[in-house]
Amino acid sequence: MKYPQFLVKPVSNKYVARLTREIIHRFSPDDFFLKFMLQQINPLDSAAYALTFDFDFEKDIEAFPVLLDLLKEHNIKAGLAVIGKFVEKYPDIHKRAVNEGHEIINHSYTHPDNPHWAPNRYFNKLSHAEQKEEIEKAHEVYHRILGVESIGFRTPHYGNLHTESVYPILAELGYKYSSSTAACGYKGFGAPSVHSHGIIEIPTGCSLHFPLAIFDSWNMLRKNNPFLGDDDLFVKEFVETINVISKNKLFLTHYFDPYDIIKNNKIDRMLSKLSLIKTVLYRDLFS
Ligand SMILES: [Zn+2]
Repeated sequence: MKYPQFLVKPVSNKYVARLTREIIHRFSPDDFFLKFMLQQINPLDSAAYALTFDFDFEKDIEAFPVLLDLLKEHNIKAGLAVIGKFVEKYPDIHKRAVNEGHEIINHSYTHPDNPHWAPNRYFNKLSHAEQKEEIEKAHEVYHRILGVESIGFRTPHYGNLHTESVYPILAELGYKYSSSTAACGYKGFGAPSVHSHGIIEIPTGCSLHFPLAIFDSWNMLRKNNPFLGDDDLFVKEFVETINVISKNKLFLTHYFDPYDIIKNNKIDRMLSKLSLIKTVLYRDLFS
């Protein structure tokens, strides 16, 4: 598959970015969403959705079996950004995930600044050698314990802690993609595009009424003054977004925190909706 290279840059002035977001979210979000997304080049011919999860904390591991049960029940495969330390500590649940067809996304070995293993360490502050070691060591753990060769990476805490320095490292390691940026205001318009060093960046998507925010449980539900603040509204926003994606043959991907998304049956309701659209894994984009 050939991917486009877009030259759109995110707005660099934070104040201007925030003001723009407030105006758009207040007055014409769905219009903006559709116009923005229609600029993408969908690598697949049809509407497609890639579901991913980030496993950062023990409580995400606790949610793992329930999540796998639900994915199985709905026959949906997902991308799982997992950290090397957790694969070593809980090999069985990770093996089960692989056996059930889910994709392992490299999420580093220690996930700096994880309080147990890497407090006061920040991915964007690590040296080239340290960043490379984090990615390489995780890769080796997936290979040794799970028997898989990961081809993609997601920066721990992406967004803020994501750095351009990761692309040459990924290229050196033979990786194909990164999914470490936000779709809003970013190149690719929510679909994969060539970033640098031949690495494809698959930006995490937004939603119909909040096109300039990442659609995740942190932004929508948990932070101070969240955009939605209600589980039912969260599911409704997801359903309405998927409707627009389906109708307009677009590509969209999101990531969710396992422990958060299984609460109040959110994921079950979302998976029901996803049975109406083609779901893909990131690795499918490279086959
Ligand atoms: Zn993470």
